[in-house]
Amino acid sequence: MSKQTHSFQAEVAQLLHLVTHSLYSNPEIFLRELVSNASDACDKLRFEALNDSSLYGDQPNLEVRVSFDADAKTITIADTGIGMSQQEAIDNLGTIAKSGTKAFMDKLSGDQKSDAQLIGQFGVGFYSGYIVADKITVETRRAGAPASEGVRWVSGGTGEFEVEQIERAERGTSITLHLREEAQEFLNAWKLKQVISKYSDHISLPILMEKQEWKEGENDQPGAMVKTGEWETINKASALWTRPKKDITEEQYKEFYKAISHDFEDPLSWSHNRVEGNTEYTQLLFIPAKAPFDLYSRDKKAGVKLYVKRVFIMDDAEALLPGYLRFVKGVIDSADLPLNVSRELLQESRDVKLIRDGSVKRVLGMLEDLARHDKHDAGADAADVTDVVSEEDKAKEGKFSQFYTEFGAVLKEGLGEDVANKERIAKLLRFASTTSDAVNVSLAEYKARMKEGQEAIYYITAETLAAAKNSPQLEVFKKKGIEVLLMTDRVDEWALNYLTHFDDTPLQSVAKGAVDLGKLQDEEEKKAAEEAAEAFKPVLAKLKDALKDKAQDVRVTTRLVDSPACLVVTEDGMSAQLARLLKQAGQ
Ligand code: ADP
Ligand code: MG
Repeated sequence: MSKQTHSFQAEVAQLLHLVTHSLYSNPEIFLRELVSNASDACDKLRFEALNDSSLYGDQPNLEVRVSFDADAKTITIADTGIGMSQQEAIDNLGTIAKSGTKAFMDKLSGDQKSDAQLIGQFGVGFYSGYIVADKITVETRRAGAPASEGVRWVSGGTGEFEVEQIERAERGTSITLHLREEAQEFLNAWKLKQVISKYSDHISLPILMEKQEWKEGENDQPGAMVKTGEWETINKASALWTRPKKDITEEQYKEFYKAISHDFEDPLSWSHNRVEGNTEYTQLLFIPAKAPFDLYSRDKKAGVKLYVKRVFIMDDAEALLPGYLRFVKGVIDSADLPLNVSRELLQESRDVKLIRDGSVKRVLGMLEDLARHDKHDAGADAADVTDVVSEEDKAKEGKFSQFYTEFGAVLKEGLGEDVANKERIAKLLRFASTTSDAVNVSLAEYKARMKEGQEAIYYITAETLAAAKNSPQLEVFKKKGIEVLLMTDRVDEWALNYLTHFDDTPLQSVAKGAVDLGKLQDEEEKKAAEEAAEAFKPVLAKLKDALKDKAQDVRVTTRLVDSPACLVVTEDGMSAQLARLLKQAGQ
C-alpha cells in the first residue's frame, strides 16, 4: 500500500502547538514518557499472551533499548512490546481518546507558565517527543501480525502525519526522534543514562543501552568513545513498589509519583506497605500537592493502577478506592486476584473489598498524620506532638492545610459516601467560623470552645464567606458571643445532611427552623419573646396574609439584633443555599 497523509485531530494539533511552545523548560520528560509507553506496550503484550503465548513469536524477551546516532542526530527508543497495526497507529498517534480532553482545552489560558502546569497534569505522553524533535518516525508491528504488515508513521508535529506499510522483521515499536538544534545535548550516552535513571529506574523491564569504550586516536587523531556492540541494562529493572522500603530513597518515590501521575510537582505525602492477612497485597499510595483540572468532571478517572503479581492489569481501577478519594494516585499489586480479572469482576470480589477498605484506612491515616503535624492543630492537640521535633515532623508542617485547600471539598463527599468512616472523615474537616477567617477550625476545636449551656454546633451555609458573615441570621449569635461555623463549599449543604452529630453533639443550621438556643437564653429573654409574640399577633396575621403565596409562616424571632427581618426555612426544608444551587442547575 502506498503512503497516506492524515490530519491530526484538532485537539492534537492544539496540544502539539502547546508542547513545542510551553514545555521546553523541561525537555527531558520526553524520555520518561516514551520509555513509559514502551513499558506499557510490553505490559500489554504480557497480558494478552496470558491467553495466547504464540504472540511472543521467536522473541521471548520484553525489553526497551535506547540508542543514539550522533551523525544523524537521532535518538531511538525501541521496545519488544505489543506494537501497533496501521489502524492503531493512526488512531493512537493521531487522536486523543482521553476523557477530560475538552475540559483541559477549555482551561488553557495562553499564559505559558500556568498552561505548562496544566499540560503536565494532563499528560502529553507520546507528543512530548516534539519538545526535542522536529520530526518523529515510528516503525511498528503488532504482535502476531506477519513481517509484511509493519507500519511506518512519520510526522513533523504540525498539522499532518504520513503512514505507510513496510516490511518489519521485529515485533514491537521503535521511535526515532530527529533532534532539534537546541536539543543535541541528548546525543550523549552519559546524559541519556542520567535522565533515564532519574525517570525510569522504577520500571520493571530492563532498559538497555549499548556499551561504549574509549578508543585512542591514531595518526594524531583525537581519541573518542566508540560503541562496542554489547548492550547493558542501565536501570534496576525491578518495579519500585516490590522493593523493600529501606532500599528506596525519597527522591525515587517522588520520581515514581511523577512518572505515574504526569505531575510536575512533588507529592504531598505517600504510604508504602505490604499487607498480609486475609488477602495479600502491596500498596503504594500518593497524595498530590495540587488538585487536577478535572477533579470535578463527571468522567474523572480514578488514580490507582492495578497489578496482579507484578503484571499490569489496568489503569484507573475505580473499584479500589471510593470516589471521594479519587485524587489519590498509586499502585496496588495483589497476590490473590486472578490475572484475567475484569472491571466487572472487581466490583464483586471479596479480595477487592478488603483491599479497598485497607487502602481507605491508609489514606485516612496519612491525612490524620499530616493533620497532627499541622501548626494550627498542634496547639489544640498538643498531647500528640512530642517536644522534640524531628526533621521528618517538620517537613509535614503546613501540609495538611495545603491538602485541605486543594481537596477538602472532595473529602466532604465521604460523609455521604463512606458511612463506615464517617467519624474519621468528620475529624479531618476544617471550617472558617465567626472567630476564624482561615479554614482551620475542626469540629473538636469548636466543641472545646463551646459556651457553657450550648448544646449544638451551629453553622451557616452561604455562597461566599462575606455573605455568610453578614447574614442577619447570625446576629443573636454574635451578640451572645457564640461561634458559628461558616460554610461556603458547594458540597457542604449536601454533605452536612449526613453529619447530624459530631461526638454526640448535634449540628444545627442557624438558617433552619426556630433556632432554639436552649439554655443559652435566660428566662427574661424567653418571657420577652413570648410577650412580643402575643403583642404582634395582629401584625403577623396581616403580614402572613400579604405574603401568603411567598411565605409559609411569619414569626416573631429572637435571632435578630439589628435587622428588622430575615428569611429562614423550616427545619426539614431545603436551605436557601441549596435552593439557589438547584435553581442554577435548572431544577
Ligand atoms: P497514554 O500512554 O497515556 O495512553 P500516549 O500519548 O503516551 O498516551 O500514547 C498514546 C497511545 O499510543 C498509547 O495509549 C498506545 O496505544 C500508543 N503507543 C504509544 N507508544 C507505544 C508503543 N511504544 N507501543 C505501542 N503502542 C504505543
Ligand atoms: Mg503514555
